[in-house]
Amino acid sequence: MIDWAEVFKREMTEAEATEFGSFNMSLLKFYQCTNVEDELVWSLFPNGSYMVASAYTHLLGNPGGSSQAKLAWKMEAPPKVKMFIWSVAHNRILTRENLVQRGIPLPSLLCPLCEDKQESVDHLLLQCTMAWHIWSWFIDLFGTHWCT
Ligand SMILES: [Zn+2]
Repeated sequence: MIDWAEVFKREMTEAEATEFGSFNMSLLKFYQCTNVEDELVWSLFPNGSYMVASAYTHLLGNPGGSSQAKLAWKMEAPPKVKMFIWSVAHNRILTRENLVQRGIPLPSLLCPLCEDKQESVDHLLLQCTMAWHIWSWFIDLFGTHWCT
């Protein structure tokens, strides 16, 4: 068991004590090297140094990545656009639905633009009436149509 001061402002509930005990047990998997300085190590490169190329290769070769996400990294676009597309493909943009899933309490899940449906990635970018107006504006700007 890890020897550290267990100082809490209040007494733990039984569930919290169980969870804390489980956390302590999980720490036993690690051992402490007292004669070695801690250092940052990039596990995707053999010598432990961070290399952008190794991160890029890892992201491209990520088996969990969708084909759209992989395409985002290959396209000719500014990095922030690529990152946004990757975030959309992985449902990582901070919609109200995703914020609540991350434990952030919000008074409402409704889309702040239309206040009609829950704000999800699909709703925000495709289904929201405001998004539809914006997409329609771009379609008109380029003189094209939704369907022929
Ligand atoms: Zn909406």
